[in-house]
Amino acid sequence: MSRTRYAVLMVALAFPLTPDIANADTLAATPEDEAKVNNTATSMKDLMREAGLSSSTDSLGEGTLMMDMKVAQLDTSEIRPDGGITPPTLAGDFAQGGLIIGETMPGSTVMLDDMTLDVDAEGRFIFGFDRDHPETAVLRITYPDGTILAPQTLNVEPRDFKIERIDGLPDNKVNQFTPEEEQKIVRGIELKKAARENMQKQADWTSGFEWPVRGRISGVFGSQRILNGVPRRFHSGVDVAVPTGTDLRAPADGIVTLAEDDMYFEGGLVFIDHGQGLESALLHMSRVDVQAGQRVQKGDVIGAVGATGRATGPHVHWSLKWRDRLLDAQLVVPEMSND
Ligand SMILES: [Zn+2]
Repeated sequence: MSRTRYAVLMVALAFPLTPDIANADTLAATPEDEAKVNNTATSMKDLMREAGLSSSTDSLGEGTLMMDMKVAQLDTSEIRPDGGITPPTLAGDFAQGGLIIGETMPGSTVMLDDMTLDVDAEGRFIFGFDRDHPETAVLRITYPDGTILAPQTLNVEPRDFKIERIDGLPDNKVNQFTPEEEQKIVRGIELKKAARENMQKQADWTSGFEWPVRGRISGVFGSQRILNGVPRRFHSGVDVAVPTGTDLRAPADGIVTLAEDDMYFEGGLVFIDHGQGLESALLHMSRVDVQAGQRVQKGDVIGAVGATGRATGPHVHWSLKWRDRLLDAQLVVPEMSND
């Protein structure tokens, strides 16, 4: 156990995760434009910091952003005298579980591998890397006038995840269900599916993120749980253990898409749609104060922490999902301090 506990930290130490600006060849031919790339990267970082999005990136490092310039499909004659060709700015954790926020020319088409991303009226977009993401991804951008930027290869830092064994759970919470329990589980799956059918395009995530509650972190993202000796899905969120009844707050702006107080596994459960495919789920709540369809702002009380559903003690489980990819929520908030 103790050997795996610090695996993430060891990864961070093993790789000097500063932005690979030296390799950040640019789309443009001139040194001035190259400088512009570095500047925009820096200012995006500042924006992230202002939005409270980046303070945890230092703990895992910023990863490597490599703009692959070997593809010379961009005719320099298309570069407008006003410097109209500017590469996108990207910031976040270029690591498994990381969330990336980006900005490009409004009206652009942005593709991550084979996925078309949502781009808002100001050119902002997000994407994420799941726990088992391969070591690279490719970003392709087409400007509204049809200009195709050279694809950027993004390096995604692999991480080691820990193994957790939890014994002594009641068997019916692990693998044996009565017909009534099965019905409840199926109903829960349907409710969650319905909640995700009409997610919003508005980029509410620009509010930045804050911890839904502060306290002891009792479980981290990505760990493989072995419950009563049976290997389960990896842990999809971060757990913060605080007493039942403690106020639970919206981690960012968004629209509540699900508010249920008695899900079989999750107990009291709230989904918040932060826009562009990004969703928070808050589990095991003892009290749910919001309703589906309600708009919430970062910091609003949405209910209270509890131990409902499959929980061994009072805590909140907070998971972050972009499309079908589970991300590490802990990477988007400041380091936990208990003040
Ligand atoms: Zn959890």
